[in-house]
Amino acid sequence: MKIHEYQAKDLLARHGVSVPRSRMVTKLGDVKGAAEELGGKVVVKAQIHAGGRGKGRVVEGQGKTAAMFKRLETKPRQNEGGVRGSRVGGVRLASNPERAVAEARKILGKYLVTHQTGIAGKKVQRLLIEEQVTIADEYYAAVLIDNALGQAVLIVSSEGGQAIEEVAAKNPKAIVRLPIDPHDGLPPYKAREFAKSVLKMPHATILQAGALFSGLYDAFLASDATMVEINPFVVTRENRVIAADAKVSLDDNAAFRQPFASLRDTSEEDAMDLLAEESGIGSYIKLEGNIGCMVNGAGLAMATLDTITQAGGAPANFLDIGTVNRVERVVDALRIINMDKDVKAILVNIFGGMARVDIIAEGVIAGVRELRLKQPIVLRLNGSNLEEGLALLAESGLEFITADDLGSAARKAVAAARDA
Ligand code: GDP
Ligand code: MN
Repeated sequence: MKIHEYQAKDLLARHGVSVPRSRMVTKLGDVKGAAEELGGKVVVKAQIHAGGRGKGRVVEGQGKTAAMFKRLETKPRQNEGGVRGSRVGGVRLASNPERAVAEARKILGKYLVTHQTGIAGKKVQRLLIEEQVTIADEYYAAVLIDNALGQAVLIVSSEGGQAIEEVAAKNPKAIVRLPIDPHDGLPPYKAREFAKSVLKMPHATILQAGALFSGLYDAFLASDATMVEINPFVVTRENRVIAADAKVSLDDNAAFRQPFASLRDTSEEDAMDLLAEESGIGSYIKLEGNIGCMVNGAGLAMATLDTITQAGGAPANFLDIGTVNRVERVVDALRIINMDKDVKAILVNIFGGMARVDIIAEGVIAGVRELRLKQPIVLRLNGSNLEEGLALLAESGLEFITADDLGSAARKAVAAARDA
């Protein structure tokens, strides 16, 4: 689960990381007062669940997001703009409260498109008004799990303020990793040593940088994060070390012991993902193709995607309905698949073990009627209560394409999608 920058900074501050003073606002009317409280000279920052805001672009309506995303992708140099650039990105500097209101008006309620938002962009519903810092140097720091090591690692770079992927491509030596022993953690003396030897930071800032790294790791551990990232943390002209940005992803598996519910902003999440979750369908993943898939079992679902691809088609999604014997769950699965406007044909691949084919069939019939599905539906059904299921389908009077095995089902679905 992702959280907003203002929430991430709250979390970091509670673990001793220095962050600028700030106020989160949702209304234009609150911007001036917030800026005044912070001394007038502020940064106005769009709060969305995506990075690259500084170099993003703001557009009026959702109708223009796709075109802007294409432009950003195809001509990045011409279209990206720094924070100060004349083109409107999602991070704006303002020298006084009146300017802050003017900058806020340019982005609040609009759509922000960055290289991370995808073509839909993100609607800006919150702003962080933050005191400005005068930047002397920008650095990068993150803590995440290294899957190969099976261990948390601290990653730092002196090339902060730009996409870490670009640094990795252009100058990989500028990125240094420190595996963190789970027993020892990251005590400040170790963190200081790292700041000194690796980042070659000025002497006056070593102590603060050590505290920042230790705090970062503490926050990571305490919040059950999968990643905490500060890009950039800055050294100010007054030699203060401050986190100018913060990005945190939390591990959904820890929801039972963490106050994730209060941090969650579902308006930032994908509507189909939310519906899948509400319906108890744990795993729905949107893909690029046009063949909607409803499968029981993750392994079978993966095999289904492979088989469709092998047959020359492209799956529109991964969807594992799990072991269900509830008609409504099947209808919900079809509802989610049908929300994807790219879907031209649907492939239902069910092997009834604990799940009963007749109940799945009942669900498919109910779904077609309730949702008025127009797409051709290919059914590959086998296992418990197969005969009863096939009888229901025959009695329904609806049109289905049936297949005895997955290979032929995939070929039929690919053909149906192509002809649709
Ligand atoms: P991102 O583009 O989504 O990663 O948003 P950031 O919070 O990292 O902001 C982008 C850039 O804005 C940073 O890399 C900084 O260079 C700049 N920036 C952010 N806060 C300040 C500030 O207080 N003062 C100045 N001068 N620049 C800032
Ligand atoms: Mn950043």
